[in-house]
Amino acid sequence: MKAITVEPKKPGTARFEEIPEPDAGEGSVLVEAVAVGVCGTDVEIVEGKYGWAPPGKTRLVLGHESLGRIIDPGVSRSLKKGDLVVGIVRRPDPVPCPNCAVGESDMCRNSRYTERGIKEIDGFMSERWRIEPEYVMKVDPSLGILGVLIEPTTVITKALEQVVTIGQRSFWEPKTALVTGAGPIGLLAAFRLSLHELDVHVLDRAESGPKPELVRALGATYHTGSVLDLTFEPDIIVECTGAGPVIADAIHKVGEGESSALPESDWAGSRPGPSAMSRRGRS
Ligand SMILES: [Zn+2]
Repeated sequence: MKAITVEPKKPGTARFEEIPEPDAGEGSVLVEAVAVGVCGTDVEIVEGKYGWAPPGKTRLVLGHESLGRIIDPGVSRSLKKGDLVVGIVRRPDPVPCPNCAVGESDMCRNSRYTERGIKEIDGFMSERWRIEPEYVMKVDPSLGILGVLIEPTTVITKALEQVVTIGQRSFWEPKTALVTGAGPIGLLAAFRLSLHELDVHVLDRAESGPKPELVRALGATYHTGSVLDLTFEPDIIVECTGAGPVIADAIHKVGEGESSALPESDWAGSRPGPSAMSRRGRS
């Protein structure tokens, strides 16, 4: 079958090539690839700046933002042939650390976790891939090709769960949210935030192109320039640039989250416990 592979840490080694069918040891569920997203991490791996091949191999199959269709559900009782699915990327470390032990491998403490298409496990950029049934997420068929956005959307959902958890340490009524960076993750963050009664703002370097219009279509406000020049202090900032100076400015600019006179909303009277946001996120 065909696949896109790379020799990690060596720039210029990516190629579209013939590789063997997926090994049965990778999981009993066999999936036919429908789509694969490309994100900044993939670009870094191709540029030789990141990534690890599986143990004993020199090349890694790229791809962690997947969408596939079940060919063979293997031992799974809940999956059937034809189902649209997304593969979960990370696997817990083998120790495991306290966080991996309770299923929070996103918060792995010893960095010995592995990741499909990134760290020591082949990814999803192959015609067919295998996966363990417990790491398969079924996709609502009405989503179609948009299902490939589920993995990046989980990144945002995870971040917002942390935002809510941190905010609820004390009384907290967020009214304004700022997203720095209008790349795919930033735009997904703005979309996710716009589902709540929040005044959503997005800041990006781009002064033209599709970004301003996409942001306005979400009902959010688009800004360019420095975070420090904004005329308000956002109660929530979702930082999606990864750029040191922007992060530093954002830390200086974040408000205290005590805006008053907020109408009755998902966020009002926030108290410890599952939030409206995280419940909605899981439904
Ligand atoms: Zn761990």
